Amino acid sequence: MTIELRSDTFTLPSADMRRAMADAELGDDCYGEDPTVRQLEELAAELVGQPDALFLPSGTMANLCGILAQADRGRAVIAGHRSDVYHFEAGGPAVLGGTSMRAVPNLPDGTLDPAALLGELALDRTDSQYAVPALVCVETSHNMCGGVPLSPGYLQHVRATADEHRVRLHIDGARLFNAAVALGVPASETGAVGDSLQFCLSKGLGAPVGSILAASVDTVDRARRLRKMLGGGMRQAGVLAAAGLLALKNIEERLAADHANAAEFARRLAESAVLEVRHGGPVTNIVLFRVAGIDDHQVFVERCAESGLRLFAWEPEWVRAVFHAGVTSAEAIRAADIARLTAEKLA
Ligand SMILES: *Cc1c(COP(=O)(O)O)cnc(C)c1O
Repeated sequence: MTIELRSDTFTLPSADMRRAMADAELGDDCYGEDPTVRQLEELAAELVGQPDALFLPSGTMANLCGILAQADRGRAVIAGHRSDVYHFEAGGPAVLGGTSMRAVPNLPDGTLDPAALLGELALDRTDSQYAVPALVCVETSHNMCGGVPLSPGYLQHVRATADEHRVRLHIDGARLFNAAVALGVPASETGAVGDSLQFCLSKGLGAPVGSILAASVDTVDRARRLRKMLGGGMRQAGVLAAAGLLALKNIEERLAADHANAAEFARRLAESAVLEVRHGGPVTNIVLFRVAGIDDHQVFVERCAESGLRLFAWEPEWVRAVFHAGVTSAEAIRAADIARLTAEKLA
């Protein structure tokens, strides 16, 4: 059996989820008449401490609708240079919304370089040369920075900075619940800090499809029109929402097990003289590591795949391993053995 560590998006719906999908009560959600979708949206809003929520087909669309609901054409949207919003979403806010995407450097802990952020925010708004900033986007846990969660203190700091400069704050919390479990705080503590927040049901939470955008009633109303415009209005979407509802049960236990597997995998890698683990070890379910003396890890990743371990060459000087419901603790240990053996042969 192959051990799949390329991403937590590879999780397959459990038998319980498939049953819940089959039995879901349905209606036409574009008429606001799918009770299962409504139930999911209400529960999600409450869990993340926002007044309202919207169910969307993907995290990319949830980020896009959240951003465009708050940043008009011609306004500037500020995000980290390693953020998903800036890097992995095909430039949507610029292409489809006519916003000006402004990248500021991400520091290794996923935060935004404070001086660069202030540089973008403090541009003279009376000077007609500049696009006027509308929105700052932050990401937690930060995927490209190795799954690090943003601390409550940092989030309060960005909130204050955004308020001071009269811009809104969007949180890309694709893995918000991983961050919350690692920090030992309720998800609402992070969720309520943003004007809007996105989280994925389809990653560590294990649902097959879908994301939530949570925000004020007004922002969610705007986002609903944008979702329709983008073709993301779905009819009997309760089939999918039913899986999402189940994904929101027993979150803590589920994700803590993934974090423990990631930590055990990293601990075993770190015992090898030829392997280096980023940040000294993972905080959530993502492990970044590299083989000493190797710049491009494509060959390493291919050799691991031949031995039954799927990894992702990331950047490409780092390899990413993501732990999720489809990986047992025994498989995490076997994965570490395969990675070590393969690395020691190549190094
Ligand atoms: C996966 C991911 C997204 C996008 O979600 P999709 O459902 O794949 O579109 C957004 N932000 C981050 C940080 C992600 O990891």
